[in-house]
Amino acid sequence: MADVILKNVHKVYDGGVHAVNDFNLEIKDKEFIVFVGPSGCGKSTTLRMIAGLEDISMGDIYIDDRLVNDVAPKDRDIAMVFQNYALYPHMTVYDNLAFGLKYHHYKKDEIKEIIAKVSEILEIQDLLKRKPKALSGGQKQRVALGRAIVRSPKVFLMDEPLSNLDAKLRVSMRSEITKIHRRVGTTTIYVTHDQTEAMTMADRIVIMNKGVIQQIGTPRELYSKPSNMFVASFIGAPAINFINGIFKDGKFNLLDCDIKLDLGSSINKQLKDKSNQEIVLAIRPEYISNKKVDDNFIAGIKVKVDNTELLGSQLIVYTSLNEKKITMVVSENEHIDIDEEITIYFDKRKLLFFDAQTSLLID
Ligand code: ADP
Repeated sequence: MADVILKNVHKVYDGGVHAVNDFNLEIKDKEFIVFVGPSGCGKSTTLRMIAGLEDISMGDIYIDDRLVNDVAPKDRDIAMVFQNYALYPHMTVYDNLAFGLKYHHYKKDEIKEIIAKVSEILEIQDLLKRKPKALSGGQKQRVALGRAIVRSPKVFLMDEPLSNLDAKLRVSMRSEITKIHRRVGTTTIYVTHDQTEAMTMADRIVIMNKGVIQQIGTPRELYSKPSNMFVASFIGAPAINFINGIFKDGKFNLLDCDIKLDLGSSINKQLKDKSNQEIVLAIRPEYISNKKVDDNFIAGIKVKVDNTELLGSQLIVYTSLNEKKITMVVSENEHIDIDEEITIYFDKRKLLFFDAQTSLLID
């Protein structure tokens, strides 16, 4: 088990793509870290540099206080799990698990003992005699995890390990992997483009865009205090609403319509330096209501309902205010009809504001 530290790490590919730009991160021993961001943002490249599968253009990477920039992948004491399992088709599950141990000259009895323990953790004891073709997708993925675990590496690196599984299995494997992590305790770095995976699995999330870290924090921190509009919109589904306006004379004046919101004294104080500038009010769909629940609910804007979607206990309501789209999530018990005009209220305790020029949070 180990700390992993990246200091001012860059990757510039031949041809000039600056895939990773000044990446700085200290991962603590036993932490479960998720790198998340849209496709092409540099997640896999960063993971592959930690694994030693990709050269570092600039900067330093340490595993357990050892500078590993020039250490070969096999000598870094890491184990990698990919999305395509990479099991040997002609070998049984037992032999797949034993392969790496034999290669490292473990004795037969030791191998037996380790595989017994790991297969118990993964609940694959009954599958040891089967060949990969006789396993389901989820079982194959568990064996692939087993192959990583048997060697007790210092660090697990996982690159989109669930993306080949169907939606239902992905959800159950998500909690299996975090359960295994709690039992084994190995420092884990997990790459995904799926914000739900990041939010549900991570101790801390590193969210990237275009090679640059946007924010590092716990799922709760990223959700409630996103440092910029990219993070705010990437985390959370349905996505956060952005409403542009100008803060003037103690009121938020929505652009392109004659609506002024009185936000109350504490928000006025927060926005006082931004008077007469364009700012962006942001509110998550779940903090908008079609009722004035109490005095914290402000605005009272009339909107037209464009569409609704019932998702079990929740009703997603897509509305528009002139051209502006506003989405809210309410309880399934609310009766809201398409084309109806309704009045919506914002929970002022949950409002966020961003600078329209820089897109940074106004704190
Ligand atoms: P992600 O994992 O976030 O989808 P990658 O790390 O795979 O992103 O890629 C980051 C950027 O680097 C992308 O623009 C991608 O096209 C580019 N890239 C990845 N691998 C190579 C390569 N071997 N040669 C050149 N460019 C690459």
